[in-house]
Amino acid sequence: MRDHIVQLTYVIASVLFILGLRSLTHPDKARRGMQFAALGMLVAVCGTLVNHDIVDYRWIISGLILGTLIGYPLGMWVPTTALPQRIAMSLSFGALAATLVGVSEYYNAFHGGGGDIETAKMMALGFEVLLGSLTVTGALMAFGKLQELLPSQPITYRGQNLVNAVLFLGAVGLLVTVVVNPAAAYAFYGMMGIAALLGVLMVIPIGGADMPVVVALLNSYCGLAAAATGFALGNSILIICGALDGASGFLLSIAMSKAMNRSFSNVLFGAFGGGPATAAIATSGAPVRSISAEDAGMLLAYAQRVIIIPGYGMAVAQAQHTVRELAEQIEKRGGEVKYAIHPVAGRMPGHMNVLLAEANVPYDRLYDMDEINGEFPQTDVALVIGANDVVNPAARSDPASPIYGMPILDADKAKHVIVLKRGMAAGFAGIENALFNAASTSMLFGDAKASLVKLVSEVKNA
Ligand code: NDP
Repeated sequence: MRDHIVQLTYVIASVLFILGLRSLTHPDKARRGMQFAALGMLVAVCGTLVNHDIVDYRWIISGLILGTLIGYPLGMWVPTTALPQRIAMSLSFGALAATLVGVSEYYNAFHGGGGDIETAKMMALGFEVLLGSLTVTGALMAFGKLQELLPSQPITYRGQNLVNAVLFLGAVGLLVTVVVNPAAAYAFYGMMGIAALLGVLMVIPIGGADMPVVVALLNSYCGLAAAATGFALGNSILIICGALDGASGFLLSIAMSKAMNRSFSNVLFGAFGGGPATAAIATSGAPVRSISAEDAGMLLAYAQRVIIIPGYGMAVAQAQHTVRELAEQIEKRGGEVKYAIHPVAGRMPGHMNVLLAEANVPYDRLYDMDEINGEFPQTDVALVIGANDVVNPAARSDPASPIYGMPILDADKAKHVIVLKRGMAAGFAGIENALFNAASTSMLFGDAKASLVKLVSEVKNA
């Protein structure tokens, strides 16, 4: 009976996870999707807690308390601007959990267990520990780069890909050894050590700008490790969750590399993707024109068509609500306002969508790059709010630029461009942006939120 209840909760949880993922495909249903997924997790946890294999609840309660003590501050206090590194850290925790479960299953089999593990189970345990330990250290490296504790520039040396390939083959060789002879503990723990080293060596040559792809890929590995745990323990919910996570993480990493116009192998083996800029940079010589809030307000008040381009600076300034207010003021005066969303704007996939949804910007005003780029030449004002790399024309025209080939939003083709940023600092890629020196561009310097507050009042009173 108890088993039936557990299985039933797992089926309900799986359906909720699938509905959750499905809902995440559209911004207006994303919030509901998260609620489905959270409910699914609650049902799965409750189902697991009545499992008859549990003989002592004390460890579970201790884990619950410890997890809450770590998870609550992470969820509530880490600012949204630090979400990418927080996600990398969570991935590392998830992979560590899968790895430790694998190690304890292996250890128990030879200490107090029957002294043997059947081949299928050993294979699942081996995959779990290999992928798990690779993800633990890989995700820690990604965290270090995103948090700028490690150099964001690619760290490279001669023969790097060869060393990685040899280590990978070594780990696979040890995996085969332990599957054939499960008693070979040296192979099991050796494979774990090599995989952990590989996690470090595979991520350090990848530059900070490519971390979105890496984090999505590590997410996928973490899911696969969880699925392998499910096979090893005969737990269906772990298999389903792990497979969903593995597949969606993989698809996301492909989508992200496509958005940056980079091949997957180029990201993983090309040692590309520079780090963030640390200092202000000089631009290409042409004068930079600054504009006052009064004049910018006038331009916006009389514009027929406005496209807003949000970027990382909008997230830093937490200016999304004021952006919506400004759009409403422009619309009240008869202007049309659209939002152009670049897939890698901000610091995590969907960053701008999440912020604008939080500010209740109607979803039908948000346009993907491909949909909106053709409209810039007929646009009176392109309002760039804390965006830099995603509007940098060097991506189209300068083969020497590190972002050459990345599709960008064609803000420079609008009749007027107003850029809201604090100074002339570079964006994440650390390169200068000729858009700021273009004849059609005016810079409104200052914190984006403070500038937007002034613009709202100027447009209101125009
Ligand atoms: P950028 O990082 O290119 O530029 C952000 C700009 O915002 C800076 O130039 C900064 O200039 C300005 N800024 C910062 N704070 C404020 C503020 N309070 N008010 C006004 N402006 C501010 O952002 P983009 O969104 O254009 O590009 C994203 C970059 O991040 C891309 O290179 C992408 O590859 C990378 N990336 C993306 C990830 C993702 O998943 N989306 C993850 C990791 C990296 P100033 O200091 O002068 O104000």
